[in-house]
Amino acid sequence: MTKTAVAPSNLGAIDAAHHLHPFSDMKKLNDAGTKIINRADGVHIWDSNGKQYLDAFAGLWCVNVGYGRQSIADAAYAQMQELPYYNTFFGTTTPPATLLAQKIAGHTRGKLNHVFFTNSGSEASDTWFRMARVYWKALGHETKTQVIARKNAYHGSTVAGASLGGMKWMHEQGNLPIPGIHHINQPYWYAEGGDLSPEEFGLKVAKELEDKILELGEENVAAFVAEPIQGAGGVIVPPSTYWPEIKRIAAKYKILLVADEVICGFGRLGTWFGHQYYDFEPDLAPIAKGLSSGYLPIGGVLVSERVAKVMIEELGDFYHGYTYSGHPVAAAAAIENLRIIEEEGLVERVRDDIGPYLAQALQSLADHDLVGEAVSVGLMGAVQIAADKATRRRFAKPDEVGTLVRNQCVDNGVILRATGDRMLFSPPLIISRSEVDQAVDTLRKGLDWLKDNHKE
Ligand SMILES: *Cc1c(COP(=O)(O)O)cnc(C)c1O
Repeated sequence: MTKTAVAPSNLGAIDAAHHLHPFSDMKKLNDAGTKIINRADGVHIWDSNGKQYLDAFAGLWCVNVGYGRQSIADAAYAQMQELPYYNTFFGTTTPPATLLAQKIAGHTRGKLNHVFFTNSGSEASDTWFRMARVYWKALGHETKTQVIARKNAYHGSTVAGASLGGMKWMHEQGNLPIPGIHHINQPYWYAEGGDLSPEEFGLKVAKELEDKILELGEENVAAFVAEPIQGAGGVIVPPSTYWPEIKRIAAKYKILLVADEVICGFGRLGTWFGHQYYDFEPDLAPIAKGLSSGYLPIGGVLVSERVAKVMIEELGDFYHGYTYSGHPVAAAAAIENLRIIEEEGLVERVRDDIGPYLAQALQSLADHDLVGEAVSVGLMGAVQIAADKATRRRFAKPDEVGTLVRNQCVDNGVILRATGDRMLFSPPLIISRSEVDQAVDTLRKGLDWLKDNHKE
């Protein structure tokens, strides 16, 4: 097989000249220079200086089976030789697209039996958003169009995705949100729980869904969307009372419940899907990331029998789709990725072994002066930086402290992410115990550094 061409030594300058990066201040980035990543294996990546990093963030929450899987490369190569592309629009399919849909449905306990394919999580957000409205219209409920989402949620960067997301700084760019989307509070007890216990606070913010449905009128509400655990928002693990109350409200009113499984899906929480961990049944569930472990772009929307039945029997054409919906090469890579997850028992490994181990390791940070809370579910964890633990006071500039600690960790060879003042873990599902220790020890070092070097 041919090897990729050797990158020219002035790649950084070329990048600055021609490449605009996502979610980046390009002036700052060009001044600092981009880090060039050119190799990866297992849980490690290497930059162009040959420096090795432990990638405790699985790329961008996605490389669940780890890097360097020859069998995924082989599956994609074989499919490319056999049939590099065909569409699924006009009465055709390809074997990988159909077999992937079957394989995914097989892990939903029969509840989400259909898949609509996209190329990303953002496209999945735009897809279910239209699907939810189309569903109610097909049933004759023309006014059921409003969608309730949450502040500080992340559902992607397309117009519907960014609008559904609850990030103000994203809304400010591009006149978002689009009409018809409403945001209620998030279950972020540490920052917003005040004097309430976590359990009281979880109930209170969940009840906001009911209040919002009543305010808008049940006859106008199409759906509520939430990530089982908010990811980009800072791995906000909800209090134990939150999801049971959401479940109660969603059952009481005629609305669709949408679980954004783009991060939580495919083993991250020690279950195949996040809604299984929290024991609720969504009507729709966008997926991406871990579906292919990032080896090729592919996403989709899981569709319940309830919605699929209406789409199949009542709707007629759904005028929606992407040239590459169910792309055969991406689908072949995804099938092999899921086969690896099954064969190696990675979901069970997260649930029974490495997930509990990470939880324990993170707990060892709880005694640190700057750690407000250290929480995780499966292999999704967060450490909250606190200025004063006793009062849950945060530093005046949360982004600054998070970035400082993150940079320390990266300098010390561990890739973590900071959202504000929360340090986030989302490693590949194959990470070993000693690698978990390395990541957590490196974070402790970063926190020690902050304590010694940062004055408010
Ligand atoms: C990453 C993400 C998305 C968007 O997925 P893309 O593939 O980046 O478009 C949507 N929802 C959640 C929860 C995500 O984490």
